[in-house]
Amino acid sequence: MPPDKPHWAHLFSEVVTSGLCTGCAGCVVACPYDVLEYDDTKGAYKPFHVEADGGFDDCTHGQRGCTLCTRACPRFRLWEPEIDNKLFGREREAAEVEGVSKDIVLARATDAGVAAQGQDGGLVSAILIWALENDVVDAALVSYLEGDGTTWKAVPGVARDRAEVLAGGGSRYTYSANTLAYADAIASGATRIALVGMGCQSSVPPVMAARRAGKVSRRFVLNIGLLCSKTFDDAIFAELFEARYGLARQDMVKMNVKGAFQIWMRDGSFHEIPLKECRDWTRQGCKACPDFAAEHADISAGGIGAFGDWTLTIVRTDTGREVMEKMMADGSIETRPGDDDPGAIALLRKLSRASRRRWPESAVTGPGRVPDAPVQLRR
Ligand SMILES: Cc1cc2nc3c(=O)[nH]c(=O)nc-3n(C[C@H](O)[C@H](O)[C@H](O)COP(=O)(O)OP(=O)(O)OC[C@H]3O[C@@H](n4cnc5c(N)ncnc54)[C@H](O)[C@@H]3O)c2cc1C
Ligand code: SF4
Ligand code: SF4
Repeated sequence: MPPDKPHWAHLFSEVVTSGLCTGCAGCVVACPYDVLEYDDTKGAYKPFHVEADGGFDDCTHGQRGCTLCTRACPRFRLWEPEIDNKLFGREREAAEVEGVSKDIVLARATDAGVAAQGQDGGLVSAILIWALENDVVDAALVSYLEGDGTTWKAVPGVARDRAEVLAGGGSRYTYSANTLAYADAIASGATRIALVGMGCQSSVPPVMAARRAGKVSRRFVLNIGLLCSKTFDDAIFAELFEARYGLARQDMVKMNVKGAFQIWMRDGSFHEIPLKECRDWTRQGCKACPDFAAEHADISAGGIGAFGDWTLTIVRTDTGREVMEKMMADGSIETRPGDDDPGAIALLRKLSRASRRRWPESAVTGPGRVPDAPVQLRR
């Protein structure tokens, strides 16, 4: 970190209003004075500072030396090399477009109920259930649908057992800042927490650790990332799916993004909306995001590839490898080599490279930069 004690005023101008802010809520979770709040209405998904304590663009605690919000922000200044060095002991090489990894495998839950509830192979849900039932974590921060699910508004929440993990299984493609469920997890007595989230969120625990952001970072003991190239504005339901295609959100039962926006309806019908039609509803916070592959998670999981019922799995850290090995040993999951699906690995790298080009030239140099010329693929 630079010696100038950067605080909310710096975060506000350099990240929140510059187009770099993903809405991950790391700053909100880290603030010890509760002067940062989060707006998830009308598609905002942004932190804001309470007026009474220095105004929207400054902070009295920051002026007195508090730097915790900038320490928790995985888009502030040289976040990527700082996290890489903390997690992996080195910066990534240019050829490592999907981030530093130990193993790339295909994995799935062996429990048929878990696999069926999961979006792809149910790996993420299997890991959370295993970690809760084997006393590795006390709680997991996941995403649910609000209310009875008919609005399809994704909201953060805490899972403490198998039933709660399965209730949050599957993917929604609008934003859910799962980090925000941290306070509820702590209030329920949890001290060892698993986080599930897209790359913007899975860089939060390690950036906090790299910048010594205090006890919050020590409570995140397992970090599961979701591959992600974008999320969509909540308005896509009314303005595109319903207005143009007559698909009412209360009748939707499942969705996926695989070459097209796929929607399954209660009446058994299946619809594919071309992704280029969805482009106008890309969430603002995703437009400068350089991280497709959740580069700083212990384990990153995605659904690309030829096998719909397997999760493409990138194991990055010692913690991730230990969890995978123990789950394989007790039969909770099964795996096969990533090389069984070379097309998936090639697509992983292609999509990672495309996302990295989004990091704007106006931002600090370093993170998200790769040469425009094709790089040598690492095999
Ligand atoms: C917004 C989004 C975009 C994605 N984009 C891609 C992609 O482009 N390519 C790709 O290969 N994979 C993508 N994925 C990952 C993929 O959809 C699966 O989550 C992944 O393959 C793991 O599958 P699983 O069966 O192991 O997960 P599951 O066992 O179904 O567990 C999924 C977990 O994700 C959480 N979750 C669901 N929706 C959200 C959300 N909106 N925000 C935060 N957490 C959520 C759930 O609470 C659950 O814990 C995306 C996921 C999301 C949420
Ligand atoms: S990127 Fe995350 S931590 Fe940084 S300002 Fe935005 S919400 Fe806060
Ligand atoms: S593209 Fe995905 S990982 Fe990046 S900011 Fe958007 S939701 Fe987060």
